[in-house]
Amino acid sequence: MQLDELYRQVIMDHYKIPRNRGTLDGEAVSVQLNNPTCGDRIELQMMIEDGKVTQARFEGEGCSISMSSASMMTDAIKGKSLEDALKLAEDFSQMMQGQEYDEFEYEDIEALSGVTKFPARIKCATLAWNAMRKGIVQSKHELDGESEQS
Ligand code: ZN
Repeated sequence: MQLDELYRQVIMDHYKIPRNRGTLDGEAVSVQLNNPTCGDRIELQMMIEDGKVTQARFEGEGCSISMSSASMMTDAIKGKSLEDALKLAEDFSQMMQGQEYDEFEYEDIEALSGVTKFPARIKCATLAWNAMRKGIVQSKHELDGESEQS
C-alpha cells in the first residue's frame, strides 16, 4: 500500500516505538478483540476513575496500521472523560468512512486518514477504537451492577 510519505513515517514511528504498550494492574477494564481478516489481535486495558480514563495500555500483535492505531488511541484518550473518549471514537469512525469529523487534537491520528483509500485495511485501523468503545460500555455496566447491589 502507498501512503503519503509523512503519514507513513508517523505510522511507522508508532509501530516501532509503541506508546503505552504493556498491562495495568488492579481494577483495569480489559477487552480483547481480533481482526481475523488481517490477523490483528489486541488486548486493551483501561483504568477508569471518576468518569475519566486515567490510564490505557495495550498488548497484541498485528500489522503496522492496527498497532500504530492502538498506540495513538491509548495516548489520545488518557486523561479524557468517557464522553470525550467516545467522541474521539466517533470522529475516528467518521474519518474512516471518509465523512466529516472534528480534527484531532492529537495530530498523529490524522496520519491514519490515508487508510480510507484501502478499504480492506479499515478494520485494522478501527480495531483499537472498537476495543475502547467496548471497554467503556463494559465499565458502565459494572458501575450499574454495583449501584444495584448497594
Ligand atoms: Zn491489520
